[in-house]
Amino acid sequence: MRIIDVHTHAFPDALAERAIAELADRCGCRPAGDGTVAGLVEAMDAAGVEVSVICSIATQPAHVGSILRWCVAARSDRVLPLASVHPETPDAGGWVRRVGEAGVPGIKLHTMYQDFRPDDWSRMDAIYAAAAEVDLVITFHAGMDFGWPADDDRASPVRLARVHERFPDLRMICSHMGAWRMWDLSREHLVGRGGELMLETSYSLDQIGPDVAARMIRRHGVDRVMFGTDWPWARPIDSLRHFERLGLTDEEKAAVLGGTAQRVYGI
Ligand SMILES: [Zn+2]
Repeated sequence: MRIIDVHTHAFPDALAERAIAELADRCGCRPAGDGTVAGLVEAMDAAGVEVSVICSIATQPAHVGSILRWCVAARSDRVLPLASVHPETPDAGGWVRRVGEAGVPGIKLHTMYQDFRPDDWSRMDAIYAAAAEVDLVITFHAGMDFGWPADDDRASPVRLARVHERFPDLRMICSHMGAWRMWDLSREHLVGRGGELMLETSYSLDQIGPDVAARMIRRHGVDRVMFGTDWPWARPIDSLRHFERLGLTDEEKAAVLGGTAQRVYGI
């Protein structure tokens, strides 16, 4: 059974130590890895993960170009780095097209680290329209985030559902089973939506609980759900253990662990 992890973080070697220290400090989380690609591959090997998708986040508008260059350079048969576009980057829609032309199949957006609301159409329309046009997948951080106040609703499922309604052709992935620690809203607004709205499992299965998580996955459809870990904030070997507790059939497991990601990212 192929295992593809669609939600990890890794940084260029020269930046990893500082980036992980800053993030750990902000979130109060202890990392399970060093944030380098080599460290990621080591964690993958320990768990039998074949390919990991790296979710880069441009926290500054000017970082978009250097992140794209790193994504292209760091790609291997083990890691698929996604680029990022910042809402304040001049010609953000043009950058989305450049990402597609560079052969990178998706971008990651993080409402908190990039300070935007997904349904702020005046800032976001150009990005969504370009992504839908060139068939680029957008992974959204969804729900709460350790590093931000609990009442920050910028990544709420309500807003992400609005994006799906406005851009039904946009392939979008809502992380953390639709919304970290906002799973009631995820079930109400995202789970079971058809079309191009997908979910991934990172950092949430053990918190939701196996029975409820399995029901959410089946209701959404295993062909629209992907396995993710959020390494270095979780170890793939632990995430897989949580996944095994869901009690899915072999066919369902094969889809969530690898089949859906294989199709979505062309891996
Ligand atoms: Zn993450």
